[in-house]
Amino acid sequence: MNRISIRLLAALLLAAAVGQGRAQAALNVVASTEDLAALVREVGGDKVKVETIARGYQDPHFVEAKPSFILKLHAADLLVVVGRELEIGWLPSLVQQSRNPRIQPGADGYLDASLTAKILEVPAGPITRAMGDVHPSGNPHYWLDPGNGRRIAKAIQERLTAASAADAAHFARRYADFDRRLAEAEKRWDGMMAPYKGLKVVTYHRSWSNLAERFNLNVVGYVEPKPGIPPSPSHTFDLIQEMKRQNVKLILVEPYFDLKTPDAIARDTGAEVLVLLPSVGGVKEVTDYIGLFDYDVNLLVAAIKRTGAK
Ligand SMILES: [Zn+2]
Repeated sequence: MNRISIRLLAALLLAAAVGQGRAQAALNVVASTEDLAALVREVGGDKVKVETIARGYQDPHFVEAKPSFILKLHAADLLVVVGRELEIGWLPSLVQQSRNPRIQPGADGYLDASLTAKILEVPAGPITRAMGDVHPSGNPHYWLDPGNGRRIAKAIQERLTAASAADAAHFARRYADFDRRLAEAEKRWDGMMAPYKGLKVVTYHRSWSNLAERFNLNVVGYVEPKPGIPPSPSHTFDLIQEMKRQNVKLILVEPYFDLKTPDAIARDTGAEVLVLLPSVGGVKEVTDYIGLFDYDVNLLVAAIKRTGAK
């Protein structure tokens, strides 16, 4: 073989390797939470490889920034975040340290899922973190409305399509399938919750505002005086009086909060503490977005029946 044909062979081999690599390459996606990762999986299927940062059993406001996350972010084609400052305490420095220009805020590979979602409790005045409030730009727990899950999935579909146009039909088909299954599930949840319209509850953190709005729960008060501020004796005293006055029988608590104050309130008011999951992965069995609502709605309905809550 002469030199030219060796070069030609090498070039052909390289082209074949690159072509094969492309055909098999999955998009690397990092999602800041397991809920977003679950939605990416719904739409992306086997065309994406998804990594998650915050686990579903952790308080998403406060996540330990481990160096291993920087490596995941360095390799990412797309980063999906909750936004609304949920991750402000831990994600921005990781993204910066990843030195990955594709996923910096404003780049094509940075998707802020809150931008297409319905956001509640947006402050009317100037944005402030007065007294440590961790929800200064509206409620960031918006994924707990299935309508928002659908909007996020659509935004993910558009972004994945932009990143890999050859798979556009795959992503469109998977989005449509998710949309259909979610609509069926919503009918099921609506049917289960229909008898309990206006049900009065107290919640620990303001994690459940979107869920409450979607399923007609009436949130009478919060164990926290303000989002992110631990319970205080005077606030707890006032809350107990209000719960007695309104006959509230359920206190919804996220799995990562200390049960001491909720248990004390329950003893004093005759209410029951119910640990609900704000996120996929909160327990091992809950591995996808629809499963999260199935789990919570079932627990809630069982607790309503048990306590006679109204
Ligand atoms: Zn919060």
